[in-house]
Amino acid sequence: MAYTTADLGASLPLLASGKVRELYEVDSKTLLFVASDRISAYDVIMQNGVPNKGKVLTLMTAFWFEYLQKQIPVLKTHFLGLKVPDSVSQQAQEQLRNRSMLVRRLKIFPVEAIVRGYITGSAWSSYKKTGEVNGKKMPEGLRESQEFPEPIYTPSTKAELGQHDENISTEDAAKIVGEKYAKRIEQLSLQVYSAAKEYAKQRGIIIADTKFEFGLDEETDEVVLVDEVLTPDSSRFWSAQTYALGQSQESFDKQYLRDWLTKNGLKGKEGVEMSEEVVKNTSSKYAEAFQILTGKSLEEATR
Ligand code: ATP
Ligand code: MG
Repeated sequence: MAYTTADLGASLPLLASGKVRELYEVDSKTLLFVASDRISAYDVIMQNGVPNKGKVLTLMTAFWFEYLQKQIPVLKTHFLGLKVPDSVSQQAQEQLRNRSMLVRRLKIFPVEAIVRGYITGSAWSSYKKTGEVNGKKMPEGLRESQEFPEPIYTPSTKAELGQHDENISTEDAAKIVGEKYAKRIEQLSLQVYSAAKEYAKQRGIIIADTKFEFGLDEETDEVVLVDEVLTPDSSRFWSAQTYALGQSQESFDKQYLRDWLTKNGLKGKEGVEMSEEVVKNTSSKYAEAFQILTGKSLEEATR
């Protein structure tokens, strides 16, 4: 059964509910970050969920935080652990197991830190028209899905629920969060992406692009990596085996759902119920990506 909404009763105060997650307050410094099985595409939430998706997001994010911490010792993350707080009911404990994480409560910077290693999606559309991506001239003659000479940083705004994020220049990002923090966010984003890209490539997944969020630890003035990281929801994952230039790629992420919606004239429509087949295939794509990246099946990891 897909888990689409949390039922924690009154045991923890609900602070926010996003497209995919619920955020609960544990204490003044700690939050419980819960990934449901909800799935959104083109900024609209589907009526039904994808079984185990929330577990994949949570355990994959935890995997990456641990890996990245080892690779980049100066990196700070919001991750505190996978333990479910004792204060939630027995029934909720069972629901939350492997789909929630304890995180540090931070002031979130209102920009999405997007890094692109390969040209696709909105960047490809813009390049075809203007030769530019986020207002920056790109080399001539790039083909669809080609790797950029260097990964590029293309921030966007963080829109409210129901709104769309908008691409902005790095100068605009600096106006929103301040020059000092903007630089740090860009630098960390590129560093984290490069470390992850290299690891994933060896295992057979190309991380074409990804989105990070950062928060500020106001006590230490440190920029901290938050939210989910390097998951099929926040990234484009391609199969390295079937990768080919000049075309769209076989992917482990929401592209399959997006294509289904587009083909059926459902793109951007509210209240869409995914067919059983779409649910099943999406669920297995997420589980497959998990196994390729972590080396463990989801079943093993959640035992
Ligand atoms: P977004 O497009 O920003 O991800 P969303 O609707 O997809 O929006 P969810 O992913 O469902 O949101 O919920 C996660 C929310 O929790 C995001 O708004 C994110 O900024 C916020 N968040 C992540 N980590 C923290 C943290 N450590 N402290 C406070 N808020 C956090
Ligand atoms: Mg999110």
